[in-house]
Amino acid sequence: MINHCIFCRIISGQAEASFVYRDEFVTAFMDIRPINPGHLLVVPNQHASNLGEVDDHVGGHMFVVGRKLAMALRRSELRCEGVNLFLADGAAAGQTVFHSHLHVVPRHAEDGFGFHFPPGYTIGASRADLDAVASEVRVVLDETWIDTLAKRD
Ligand code: 5GP
Ligand code: ZN
Repeated sequence: MINHCIFCRIISGQAEASFVYRDEFVTAFMDIRPINPGHLLVVPNQHASNLGEVDDHVGGHMFVVGRKLAMALRRSELRCEGVNLFLADGAAAGQTVFHSHLHVVPRHAEDGFGFHFPPGYTIGASRADLDAVASEVRVVLDETWIDTLAKRD
């Protein structure tokens, strides 16, 4: 069967990549268009097009490995004064490869990378607005939690 997912092809050895780490659950390799030298991707070995499809323990493990890689980058000879861990979930969030992955991006003060904030961002929200939004999230949290646990079985 032809696999059209580039990250599945990399993980199965059908496409090339520069690997840094691999275990039972995740593989880490260099991003082909690095923001800075050392830009890594931590990718679940099993295909999951979005974060909701990633098993709980694999999602947690992505962060464990991302954290270790961030510490390794800081100890390396690469220029690394800080690190961003970044995960784009969905096209609106900037996801372009639909096999979920965590970016580990070494940063330095003059690298020119940054986040673009919407107009009015610095004003902040009122406590009443924050409380209202918090309750909207709480309403669906229990069922989301159960869905996630159910998917693991
Ligand atoms: P996203 O935009 O989905 O968060 O990130 C996708 C990332 O995958 C991009 O940073 C892009 O440079 C990287 N990428 C896309 N195709 C390939 C590839 O064939 N090999 C590697 N190593 N990285 C890729
Ligand atoms: Zn895939």
